Amino acid sequence: MDFWESDDLAEHREAARAWVKANVRPEWVGEQHRSGCHQTMELHALLARDGLLAAGWAPEYGGGDVDPDFARAVFDECARMGLHFDGWATTTMVLHTIDHIGTQEQKRRYIPAALRGELLVALGYSEPDSGSDVAAAKTTAVRDGAEWVINGQKMFTSTAQVCSHVFVLARTDPDAPKHRGLSLFLVPTDAPGFELQPIRTLGGQVTNATFYTDVRVPHDALIGEVDQGWNVMRVALVYERGVSSPTSVERTVADDLAAWARGARRPDGTAVLDDPLVAERIGRIAVEEEVSRLLSHWMNWHAAKGGVPGPEGSMRKLFWSEAGNRHYAEALDILGAEGVLAPEAPGAPAGGAFEHGFRNAVVTTIYGGASEILRDIIAERRLGLPRSRPAL
Ligand SMILES: Cc1cc2nc3c(=O)[nH]c(=O)nc-3n(C[C@H](O)[C@H](O)[C@H](O)COP(=O)(O)OP(=O)(O)OC[C@H]3O[C@@H](n4cnc5c(N)ncnc54)[C@H](O)[C@@H]3O)c2cc1C
Repeated sequence: MDFWESDDLAEHREAARAWVKANVRPEWVGEQHRSGCHQTMELHALLARDGLLAAGWAPEYGGGDVDPDFARAVFDECARMGLHFDGWATTTMVLHTIDHIGTQEQKRRYIPAALRGELLVALGYSEPDSGSDVAAAKTTAVRDGAEWVINGQKMFTSTAQVCSHVFVLARTDPDAPKHRGLSLFLVPTDAPGFELQPIRTLGGQVTNATFYTDVRVPHDALIGEVDQGWNVMRVALVYERGVSSPTSVERTVADDLAAWARGARRPDGTAVLDDPLVAERIGRIAVEEEVSRLLSHWMNWHAAKGGVPGPEGSMRKLFWSEAGNRHYAEALDILGAEGVLAPEAPGAPAGGAFEHGFRNAVVTTIYGGASEILRDIIAERRLGLPRSRPAL
């Protein structure tokens, strides 16, 4: 496979820039910073209207004829402006999961609605006492005739404030070993008994604690088999850690830093980039960004062949998130005092992307599997080293 960008994609980028110019309001970037909500619904509606959400999906599930490379180019252009699509990113993870293990009826019901922009799904896995050990979830779902009754609390239910549903991990068999008595439900956020409280994080994002008090959902809201939620989650987690959604965009720290260093001057009048040490440090960042990009392409290629990548997803997520921390620390070191100017501060280099990126990079090593957990997975499943925890 040729991992380099094709000329086709370059052509799409021109059209994508035109689409962005015609449709995207630059003030949405500032709004996302101020509100901490990493999902702009006005933009989402426009993406749905023009078939960009549906690109690459099968026609029977509402897929359109928009080229997925064009859609990816549009998301890329938006992301380069600083816009996030976290709600759509989690939604695509759930859609792929439904596509893998949902019933035909669920595929026909949920996937087209999401592609029309009407269904947006947050992930409700973590709880106050279970994040890494997500299988220790205490939220319960109890069958009552044709319905399930859900009670409990979830932490870090990101973008739930704008989502139509939460993909809730709940215990359906309290007597089974912890990994065997779990199930996953699509819970509407307008259901009676659902509440949320915002939590602002270091990266600026406002995520949520969500509460479920006798929330009733129909049996059809169960995704996968009863008590098989752990296997369903494993599919979903692979998409979270590795397989790029159309929204996933690699970082451009090296490019942004080079652009700044080309224009910035030392007291003696020379460009910062003329310093060979600075150039070398930026070069190293560029190499690692390329490795991250290749790992993403590797995942996508695997998924395109119909596979479900296992520890490779962990490798990609671990490398990308840890490298991000190194890159932003290097960037702030090179930038000096200017580097800590936040987004929207007058004169902030790259619009404050370095300061924001530095804070946000820390957070990326936590969600979607903390680095220590990912190293364990790689050690066990890729290198065949002994398990560090009791067997499942
Ligand atoms: C910004 C943000 C957004 C998030 N969004 C979502 C979301 O949308 N939906 C959702 O469900 N969750 C979300 N999360 C939760 C995230 O997945 C958890 O925070 C993460 O899994 C870690 O769990 P924890 O916070 O309970 O920390 P803990 O599991 O308590 O871990 C604390 C520390 O101990 C280490 N540790 C834990 N167990 C082990 C072990 N066995 N071996 C070695 N080290 C270990 C961890 O690596 C970590 O460093 C989000 C988190 C953040 C910060």
